[in-house]
Amino acid sequence: MDIPEQRIKIAVQKNGRLTEHSLDLLERCGLRFRQSKDQLFCYGENMPIDILLVRDDDIPGLVHDDVCDLGIVGLNVVAEKRLELGYAGKEALYKQVFEVDFGHCRLSLAAPEGVEYRGAEDLNNRRIATSYTNLLRNYLDTQRVNAEIVYFSGAVEIAPKLGKADFICDLVSTGGTLTANSLREVETLLDSEAVIIQTLKPLAAGKQALVDKILKRLDGVLQVRESKYIMLNAPKAALDEISALLPGSEAPTVVPLDGSDDRVAVHAVCRENVFWETLENLKAAGATSLLVLPIEKMLA
Ligand code: ATP
Ligand code: ZN
Repeated sequence: MDIPEQRIKIAVQKNGRLTEHSLDLLERCGLRFRQSKDQLFCYGENMPIDILLVRDDDIPGLVHDDVCDLGIVGLNVVAEKRLELGYAGKEALYKQVFEVDFGHCRLSLAAPEGVEYRGAEDLNNRRIATSYTNLLRNYLDTQRVNAEIVYFSGAVEIAPKLGKADFICDLVSTGGTLTANSLREVETLLDSEAVIIQTLKPLAAGKQALVDKILKRLDGVLQVRESKYIMLNAPKAALDEISALLPGSEAPTVVPLDGSDDRVAVHAVCRENVFWETLENLKAAGATSLLVLPIEKMLA
């Protein structure tokens, strides 16, 4: 009798900008695994969850093909693959479940210094070098521009110098690489960050429960990152004003203070960072004994 495979697999970039953040995120979800960068496979030691270390470009395909149940990868790669499948008449068999707040960058068009760019119409009959042929094609189609797409697998920024293209379309974060190559950013096609993708294929009940569990933990870890626990004492009369000043918090817990009729203790989870100005405003509204604490774990 076949025993259904009850371990889940998560695809993570093997060696690149997303690797450390992705593994750190999974560790903070309580996963422990034998970690070796030379290995393709990391065996989950304390949960039936394994990690597959691969090139980032392969991650959406691995989830689409159901080799992995989840993946952590840039939205740029996810969107490119979705369009590639779409142009081939296929539907992407994965969905995006969370943005994870690292790997921030944008897919932009850049022009060499001295080349005029007033708008998309200036791209007509020009050559544009990119690794993101589908996202670029989609952009050009929506702009009704007819340009030649020149595929470069890497080092796109040197294409104009080599005489291979008039513009480039590439990922930018600080813009340093563009400047170093005498290029200027003229248009943003996509704002990107790393995201979690999940297979759309129905899973066996045991596996589904595991996926749900890890997603719930991921959600908690992501929420906790910015969240703070705030405690203060406040005059009862200023409670409404003080509650309104607490950033991103739901109804706070209000506790009576021993020996005081007009003052209460207020405790709240703030789902945004608490800045000095907020504390100063709370103090001005009558709050005293203010304490802001980091939150270790949170489970909704
Ligand atoms: P691989 O060998 O896995 O294919 P790669 O060279 O394609 O690696 P990286 O350069 O490590 O990939 O980038 C991985 C992801 O990091 C990108 O797809 C993008 O989502 C994100 N990223 C953030 N900032 C940048 C940037 N300045 N340039 C490129 N990618 C960036
Ligand atoms: Zn890549």
